[in-house]
Amino acid sequence: MSFKLYIFDLDGTLLDLGNIRDYAEKIFTLTLNTLKAPKIPDKEERLKFWLAGKDFIKILDKWGISEPHNFWKTYDKIDFEQRKVLIKQNKIGLFNDAKEILRKIYNNSNRLAIVTNTTGYVVEYILKKFNISEFFHEIFCMGPEIDEAFAKPSPRGILSILRNFNYNHKISKALMIGDSIVDIIAAKKANISSCLIKRQFKIETKSYNQWEYQPDYVIESLNELIYL
Ligand SMILES: [Mg+2]
Repeated sequence: MSFKLYIFDLDGTLLDLGNIRDYAEKIFTLTLNTLKAPKIPDKEERLKFWLAGKDFIKILDKWGISEPHNFWKTYDKIDFEQRKVLIKQNKIGLFNDAKEILRKIYNNSNRLAIVTNTTGYVVEYILKKFNISEFFHEIFCMGPEIDEAFAKPSPRGILSILRNFNYNHKISKALMIGDSIVDIIAAKKANISSCLIKRQFKIETKSYNQWEYQPDYVIESLNELIYL
């Protein structure tokens, strides 16, 4: 383990939501229905939305959503209820390789953090439910004061964690581990190393070598982290 600071993404990296794209799309459609969207936009439009960052309001406006500012609040609520049900049904859980590697990294006197685009109360619930809160020294998630402008691919979450750790890249090394292009972009922009974890259901990571920003490492199991 040549890194001192390990920053993990949550959904799709530690937490197994099954086919995460399908899951997000389902919550997304329920949210649009709740907000009385005139129509459900096509696949291409929706993809633009997921990558829009702080410009998401403009897209929602274009789609005719009357209260676009309420979008994420509504989305989070629906997401939270859905997760609680699926956890109860054992359809959502930690990946098999998650807990043990967190323990190993932690026991090796390293620092651990989470940077996620998921909202704070959902993250807190998940970490408690699966008994992994103790491993993380810092958590950066979405909340009332932290909006989409801070979400990955923005590096602001990672930079905030680095600041809190008084991180000095001349002394130690930090690694961002995630299952999405946004994790890799955020890490590059924050000037730390990045590691892509390829998960079974994740179709878009199959063509990761065509991404504009390339991960420094690619793994298929979190257990491989101990060799990096
Ligand atoms: Mg993810």
